[in-house]
Amino acid sequence: MGEYLKSMKIFENKPSKMARFRKHNMPKARKYGLGKSICRNCGKKGMGMITKYGLYYCRHCFREVARTVGFKKYS
Ligand SMILES: [Zn+2]
Repeated sequence: MGEYLKSMKIFENKPSKMARFRKHNMPKARKYGLGKSICRNCGKKGMGMITKYGLYYCRHCFREVARTVGFKKYS
């Protein structure tokens, strides 16, 4: 869930203002770069993403999920 969605409650009864707000504040659909990879568990995007082996988890969620996915922790 994006940060910009949190401020949408103000526009509940104002659809035209909502449309204008979305037009100027919605994040772009990225083709490449940091903003493209989204964590499949929590939906975060940006820094700390693990995309190796097609995991697509952020580092926080990877710590929780790693055992169930099949990673082993040595020592
Ligand atoms: Zn995550």
